[in-house]
Amino acid sequence: MIEIRRRGLMLVLSSPSGAGKTTLSRLLLETDSGIVMSVSATTRPKRPNEIEGRDYFFVTPDAFGRMIAGGEFLEYAGVFDFQYGTPKKPVMEALAAGRDVLFDIDWQGTQQLKERVREDLVSVFILPPSHAELERRLRTRAQDSDEVVSRRMSKAADEISHWPEYDYVIVNDDVGRAHAKIVSILEAERARRARLVGVSEFAAALTR
Ligand code: 5GP
Repeated sequence: MIEIRRRGLMLVLSSPSGAGKTTLSRLLLETDSGIVMSVSATTRPKRPNEIEGRDYFFVTPDAFGRMIAGGEFLEYAGVFDFQYGTPKKPVMEALAAGRDVLFDIDWQGTQQLKERVREDLVSVFILPPSHAELERRLRTRAQDSDEVVSRRMSKAADEISHWPEYDYVIVNDDVGRAHAKIVSILEAERARRARLVGVSEFAAALTR
């Protein structure tokens, strides 16, 4: 039987912290078995709730430097005080196996991916619903000082300024609705003619 196949696509979700991107990524992975997460390497220390190899590969600055020198990254960037990079091999293996890959990376990484894999990249920017809600989400602990919160706010403002570089923008006012929008984007992008392989043969066989 003749089958239509498809090249895997790369779905990037970017947002300022506090926009709910981590929750949305997790939901998408739970509800769609065709997409896998790209796990980044970082020099940032592990947070208590994080798991090595699931959230990140936590590496020393030396090891990160060796990975750069060895050409192991698809993209890498300094974000705030630490370095973050996307290991190339697992992504290439997933795409070759016909799976799509989800990336939680910042605007710098997205720009690098766009230069390298233009056609295969779909980028989505997630925005929080309002200034007040962003501030509420950035004030994660009651004891956070105003100074800490305002520093987080200005980092968020920096990241937010990059929304025009993305294919899609979603305002996360309701997690269920935002998730449904990401699912729709993914489904539509999967059906793009340019990604499909073998349609001519399939169509020809229909009328033979
Ligand atoms: P966090 O330290 O809070 O986990 O992540 C900080 C920022 O780094 C987030 O905006 C996240 O999207 C970004 N980030 C995580 N991994 C990578 C990566 O591999 N490459 C790039 N360019 N950014 C990343």
